[in-house]
Amino acid sequence: MAIKRVLKYGEKSLREPSKEVHKVSRKITDLVNDLLDTMYAQNGVGLAAPQIGVNYRVFVIDVTSGKESLNPIVFINPKIIKASGSVISNEGCLSFPEAYTDVKRYSDVMVKALNSNGKPFVMEAKDGSLLARAIQHEFDHLNGVLFIDHCVNRFETDDILKKYNLPPIEPDKLIEE
Ligand code: ZN
Repeated sequence: MAIKRVLKYGEKSLREPSKEVHKVSRKITDLVNDLLDTMYAQNGVGLAAPQIGVNYRVFVIDVTSGKESLNPIVFINPKIIKASGSVISNEGCLSFPEAYTDVKRYSDVMVKALNSNGKPFVMEAKDGSLLARAIQHEFDHLNGVLFIDHCVNRFETDDILKKYNLPPIEPDKLIEE
């Protein structure tokens, strides 16, 4: 497939809610392959469709990124069906090059989704693992939510965004937990 341009914070698609997939058609499997190619090209752990300008509820994750064997996981129409615990950790996003900040996440999640063949599956990710965080991060993208909306310190985060020439925090988007 193809390596696509990753949208940067400030571009419209990143703040738009994405549409459900009604059929895992050729168009959707092409999208999945573009997401995987683009994620691996950027050495990312995850990538969501709106990040390449396509507002469908699809994202991909590979927490083995950089290691010898790849393990891509495809999520279509994901739903987080259980979430508990909380953990603060440093997070980044391919749409925010070089900018990292501390965000608060659930430590354990259970997600239900369709795979690239349209088959339903349930996956559990626990103990604040990279997979647990990646699922929540990518899921948020499908609702136009960005990791900075969960930041622990908005002033520090604004300084980081400024340093990397990214637009400031949108105060009305901040999520109070
Ligand atoms: Zn992201």
